[in-house]
Amino acid sequence: MKLKSLTNSLEENNNNYQKNTPEKTSWKIENSEQLYRIHGWGEPYFSINAAGHITVSPLGDRGPVLDLFELVESIKKRNIGLPLLIRFSDILADRIERLNSCFAKAIARYKYPNIYRGVYPIKCNQHRHLVEALVKYGKPYQFGLEAGSKPELAIALATLKPTLNPQKDNSENLLICNGYKDKEYIETALLATKLGHKPVIIIEQLKELYLTIKISNQLGIKPILGIRAKLNTKGSGHWGNSTGERAKFGLTIPQILEVVKQLKQIEMLETLQLLHFHIGSQISSIKIIKDAIREAAQIYGELVKLGAAMKYLDVGGGLGVDYDGSKTNFYASKNYDMQNYANDIVAEVKEACEERKIEAPVLISESGRAIAAHHSVLIFDILGTNEPPNEIPAKLTEKEHLIIENLRETYDLIKEENYQESYHDAIQFKQEALSLFGFGYLSIQERAIAEQLYWACCQKILEISQHQEYVPDDLEDLEKIMASIYYVNLSVFQSAPDSWAIDQLFPIMPIHRLDEEPTKRGILADLTCDSDGKVDKFIDLLDVKDVLELHSVNQREEDKQPYYLGMFLVGAYQEIMGNLHNLFGDTNVVNIKINPKGYDLESIVKGDTITEVLSYVQYDAEDLLETIRIYTEKALQENQITIEESQKLLQNYEQSLKSYTYLVNQE
Ligand SMILES: *Cc1c(COP(=O)(O)O)cnc(C)c1O
Repeated sequence: MKLKSLTNSLEENNNNYQKNTPEKTSWKIENSEQLYRIHGWGEPYFSINAAGHITVSPLGDRGPVLDLFELVESIKKRNIGLPLLIRFSDILADRIERLNSCFAKAIARYKYPNIYRGVYPIKCNQHRHLVEALVKYGKPYQFGLEAGSKPELAIALATLKPTLNPQKDNSENLLICNGYKDKEYIETALLATKLGHKPVIIIEQLKELYLTIKISNQLGIKPILGIRAKLNTKGSGHWGNSTGERAKFGLTIPQILEVVKQLKQIEMLETLQLLHFHIGSQISSIKIIKDAIREAAQIYGELVKLGAAMKYLDVGGGLGVDYDGSKTNFYASKNYDMQNYANDIVAEVKEACEERKIEAPVLISESGRAIAAHHSVLIFDILGTNEPPNEIPAKLTEKEHLIIENLRETYDLIKEENYQESYHDAIQFKQEALSLFGFGYLSIQERAIAEQLYWACCQKILEISQHQEYVPDDLEDLEKIMASIYYVNLSVFQSAPDSWAIDQLFPIMPIHRLDEEPTKRGILADLTCDSDGKVDKFIDLLDVKDVLELHSVNQREEDKQPYYLGMFLVGAYQEIMGNLHNLFGDTNVVNIKINPKGYDLESIVKGDTITEVLSYVQYDAEDLLETIRIYTEKALQENQITIEESQKLLQNYEQSLKSYTYLVNQE
């Protein structure tokens, strides 16, 4: 596994947190802060209070603080169950404000002679509350939208407020039209200019140029055109192929020259006003961003020289989110902050324009992830745990099978001096026991004892290894093997698809009991019947952890306390990419807005019911119920079921059709 190269001197390096320190009482919330790295990824929105609960400061460091655990409890009292996605619209507002203020600062600092206009790429999260909130909070900054498809264009046209008199209203929201386009798309975008919208049609393919020219002539509406360039600068990580010669999107340099030639021939070169590029999402290294800007600024300058009426430079998305809080160029992190990002863009473009003595463009960026990620938190509960067996089995008979004797002896002799050797012995004896069982030489009871002894050995060895400074490589997996399985009321496929599909890391931690030492090491297993439905990679400072530190949960029904985990920074991409694997549907969603007295539940969107998910796969709930009713009638006639049983069955069936697809964790 690739280690992160640390660019910052990080104090956490010499933190004094030690795994499995026995003195439970000495655990402080500071230990939890370090362990879960909440300052790294959570600032300024998430922290821990004296009660050991996570807190949320939706207005960043300026405003009120909510206790997340209490918030969840109070939402649950309103009969909205877990899993639950909580969206904080104030965080969204804060992100927009931050981005704009970073660009404003950079523009002032470098005396950049033009302005910044952000747009939000709708594909990042299309939910209505979010897009509407973005447009509302973005209004002071004339924040626009970016559409990448016809449905997204439909959203943009109805959500942005057009203005027929931009000067008077002092408002002009750009609508960047990306994605592949057909006649209908282009016609709609062009006609929308008559409503007072300001669409910029980005040419992604030469074909789109010809189509746009033709439609523009037919309608008699002049377009504002942009071109998307395939840069030579390559992103890195999962979206590294968004650019480069063979990228899926954009025009190569010869194609860009062809666009200019064609437009010049028909005297429409003045419609070409924007240069766009997008080198991929979650760019971890500032160097790549700088290289891309530099290359794009040169192309921009050349287009001016060729006579295009260039006015805008659109640097696309890519502004990263520090999911692991390490401030490194690791894929789950980024080695720059928003201000560095704005500074570099502004400074590079200014320099290039000064050298060429051309007017500096309006700068546009299309940040999705960096705007939306922080505002959503997914809360889910633990349904139960599965721990590796940890008991020394009693002898079945006075004289035990030799292999069992060997395992017992191995167990007894484990100590610091020989724990590595003992580990290999235990593995070997367990293997032998399994083959003996395979040949019929060991009874099932004996096999059970052998397995229990093996686990006991592993546990003892693990405890010793956890107190060693250096642990040999072959013992590294032990912690993973011995991890508890925490069953979570969640579908990874629905709620964190990137965790499953592209190994994206999200910060995950308990939202309470943080004043208590988490003595367990666990992985999370979700509700789906899919072995991929799990989370077994967690953020860490220098690497990725295979197990997460968790608290023990009481398994006995009578004193079962809820245990809630939060998955953070999930506001970008996860909601829309989630799928219906095993028919687990959308989760409940609550939108929270701070008010002077506390907070408002702005809106509640109930998650899918079983009836709804069944309808996606063409089952009609009424039909299903009717079929079951007919079957019960038949069984009644044959005296196979009592009338009471049949009623109970039908009631349960009907009730479950109306209910949430997730489990109800009875307390
Ligand atoms: C996806 C996308 C974005 C958003 O990228 P982020 O990394 O989320 O900011 C911006 N522009 C285009 C063209 C995109 O395809």
